[in-house]
Amino acid sequence: MATYRIVFDTVKEGFSRSGRCSVCGKYCKRRTTIEHSINPYNVTKDGRPKGRSEVYKDVLAKGAEWEAKPLVCRACEEGKTDDQQTT
Ligand SMILES: [Zn+2]
Repeated sequence: MATYRIVFDTVKEGFSRSGRCSVCGKYCKRRTTIEHSINPYNVTKDGRPKGRSEVYKDVLAKGAEWEAKPLVCRACEEGKTDDQQTT
C-alpha cells in the first residue's frame, strides 16, 4: 500500500549560544534549530505565499527571539533541579 505525503521544502538554520544559566548560574551551551516550511499556507500579510527569502527572514527573527530570551540550561528547562522543590 502506497502512502502519499506532501513534503514541503523547508528553511532551516541552527543557532547556538553559551553563557550562564539564568536559573542556576551554571555555564552552559545551548543550541537550537529553527525550521520553517515553505508552503501555500505560509503567507504574507497580503495573502501571498512566502518565498524562500521571506521564510528565511522569519527563521532569523525566531532565532533572534530565542537569543534574546534569558539563557536557561537544559536541566533547568526540564525542571530537573533539586532546588526547585516545593516545601
Ligand atoms: Zn540551569
